[in-house]
Amino acid sequence: MNLIISLGGNKNDTLFSFNEAIKFLEKDIGNILSQSKVHTSKAWGFKEKTNDFLNQIIEIKTELSPLEILKITQEIETKLGRKSKSISAIYQDRVIDIDILFYGNLILKSPKLTIPHYLLHEREFILKPLSEIKPNFIHPVLNKTIKNLLLSFKE
Ligand code: ADP
Ligand code: MG
Repeated sequence: MNLIISLGGNKNDTLFSFNEAIKFLEKDIGNILSQSKVHTSKAWGFKEKTNDFLNQIIEIKTELSPLEILKITQEIETKLGRKSKSISAIYQDRVIDIDILFYGNLILKSPKLTIPHYLLHEREFILKPLSEIKPNFIHPVLNKTIKNLLLSFKE
């Protein structure tokens, strides 16, 4: 299955953590098919001024199930020193956040895991790097291409 994952973070060592995460992803989940450049954006949703955010999208060929993947990505977050979960939409600084965006065309809603990721279409900082590697991929719930979803930010 083709898995698409986002990496995000806004600490000084985030870039290093991305590279470490990619090594773990390749070792534990599957071969990397493509990856976007690292994109930078201004942090939002924070109470105080913080560092800029880094985001990168990775496409992986995998044999694992979505829940197996979630377990592994959470272990990678822990290994790379992520200390806290976000609490009630108050965002916190973090070295790395690994989110599952798509698992082929699968639509999944379970208590632990929602695929496609429920906010990806509202986040320009995800759609931009995503459109670099998957512009014509069709969001299986919204039935729009990534390129198209990104257009709504350019009005
Ligand atoms: P956020 O990514 O929203 O900043 P967290 O990384 O702390 O917050 O994730 C909170 C919970 O979101 C995780 O414990 C996980 O069970 C759940 N979750 C639901 N859908 C997804 C997904 N598509 N990718 C990653 N985590 C998800
Ligand atoms: Mg997350």
